[in-house]
Amino acid sequence: MSIARQLFQLQEVDIELEAAEKAVSGIMHQLEGSEALTAVRSQLAGERQRLAELKKQQRSIELDAGSINAKLKRVEEELYSGRVRNPKELSNLQREFEILKANRNKLESRELEIMDQAEQVGKRVNFAEKESQVVEEGWQRQKEQLSADLEHVRAVLAEVTRRRQQLADGIEPSALNTYQDVKRAKGKAVVPVERGICTGCRIALSVTDTHRVRSGQLVRCGSCGRILYAP
Ligand SMILES: [Zn+2]
Repeated sequence: MSIARQLFQLQEVDIELEAAEKAVSGIMHQLEGSEALTAVRSQLAGERQRLAELKKQQRSIELDAGSINAKLKRVEEELYSGRVRNPKELSNLQREFEILKANRNKLESRELEIMDQAEQVGKRVNFAEKESQVVEEGWQRQKEQLSADLEHVRAVLAEVTRRRQQLADGIEPSALNTYQDVKRAKGKAVVPVERGICTGCRIALSVTDTHRVRSGQLVRCGSCGRILYAP
């Protein structure tokens, strides 16, 4: 087999090798985690946090309302005890009573608003929990499939690597070095000659070069430097 044909075969195997390597790293990247799962978990965490904040606000309002109620009770008792007879003091007490009652009412309506919000957020938490569970289960199934795929592509990679080694072992080292150098510089190292034209750069080759390529010698295009191969 001509050296150019050997190198062309090596190039074919290298293409397979790159594809297998890409497949392995692609699957490994996918296995790192699911974006959908991260999104749904963060959504759930956000809703839970909002719910906790509302509950905290509610407790704080309840405490405030409790202390206002205690004060109200004291003022009311004082007001109707008959102990206070001074009209100015009575009117002050009455005003305090009214202010306390207004504050308590404000707190109560605020509490109702917060309870209403907490109910809405609670529903969203439930929904996000269910959604998260569905996505989690889907991800578990996907992970199993990906692991099976990974095993398969790793086996392919091992087989192609073995084949590449076998081919490379049969190629003389200087030709192999040339191939590697051109591959690094041009990406594709070996190109077919069609109707006397280098298909790497579309330049017409000399009759001599075309002839040398046909005879199986290692010829590089004088223009782009790629290794020429007669299919
Ligand atoms: Zn060329």
